[in-house]
Amino acid sequence: MPPTINMGIPGATSSVRSGGGSQASGKRVLLAEPRGYCAGVDRAVETVERALEKHGAPVYVRHEIVHNVHVVETLAKAGAVFVDETDEVPEGAIVVFSAHGVAPTVHVEAAARNLRTIDATCPLVTKVHNEAKRFARDDYDILLVGHTGHEEVVGTAGEAPDHVQVVDNPDAVDQVTVRDPNKVIWLSQTTLSVDETMETVRRLREKFPTLQDPPSDDICYATQNRQVAVKAMAPECELVIVVGSRNSSNSVRLVEVALGAGSDAAHLVDYAEDIDPTWLEGVTTVGVTSGASVPEVLVRGVLERLAEYGYGTVQPVTTANETLVFALPREIRPPRA
Ligand code: SF4
Repeated sequence: MPPTINMGIPGATSSVRSGGGSQASGKRVLLAEPRGYCAGVDRAVETVERALEKHGAPVYVRHEIVHNVHVVETLAKAGAVFVDETDEVPEGAIVVFSAHGVAPTVHVEAAARNLRTIDATCPLVTKVHNEAKRFARDDYDILLVGHTGHEEVVGTAGEAPDHVQVVDNPDAVDQVTVRDPNKVIWLSQTTLSVDETMETVRRLREKFPTLQDPPSDDICYATQNRQVAVKAMAPECELVIVVGSRNSSNSVRLVEVALGAGSDAAHLVDYAEDIDPTWLEGVTTVGVTSGASVPEVLVRGVLERLAEYGYGTVQPVTTANETLVFALPREIRPPRA
């Protein structure tokens, strides 16, 4: 008998090879590890929860605190009010800035309305903001690889609008022009596909051979780790299910990575009910993972649903162990004992 682990999923066991009720059919789930919440999302969600505890409802949140339908709906039920801009927040009220970060102009607008701000920007996004400020001060042309219009990209570009150009994809390189090809650096959004970003950078470097690299990786550890885990399991899967929302950049990237790494099909689902049974026709191995903004309860729902379809054996595919934790924003940090 292979060693088994109780996953807490009805009808499901975890084993180092197929076993249990699914043995005859060979049906199994490969479960990517790491998956789900990253340190920045954990911090941002807890920030809103603690703000609600401390100040009571309503607590205003500019934009979705993280890009996940379930998280946003749950916090809204608890009293969070999501707004697009600070001018929708009553004067003097509390507003939380989301994990994706904001441009300096947003801080100015909030101050002008006497809003009490709590900044839940992920520290790894703040790091990219600081890089943009630093290289703008040194008068570089900054090529920000990222998705046009994504909140994080808007926030980072807003740190140095006169110096930053957004490069959306490898083909967009053709349109890039700079003032001095010897004074150019690339930075990036934190949640991109590593492979596509490297292709964009390769093409940028063809055009600007002295292009400088960022001082450290801008694509964050969580994005990279989740892509590595998917790449490890996807070649064995006929189907990969990524739990995540459509506006979650890192979740959408996981679908692309799964397909690129050899899975026959890959789909994004918010909830277990979104699984279309026809996806499972003729499928022996289903890979499951989740984006960095996805609570584990949603993955458990997907595993339960798959167990009902006969995929009761769950085999973890672990490529990294994550231990990073960020301190909460100062404004809601509990006092030291
Ligand atoms: S995905 Fe990365 S950058 Fe975004 S919140 Fe998580 S740790 Fe921070």
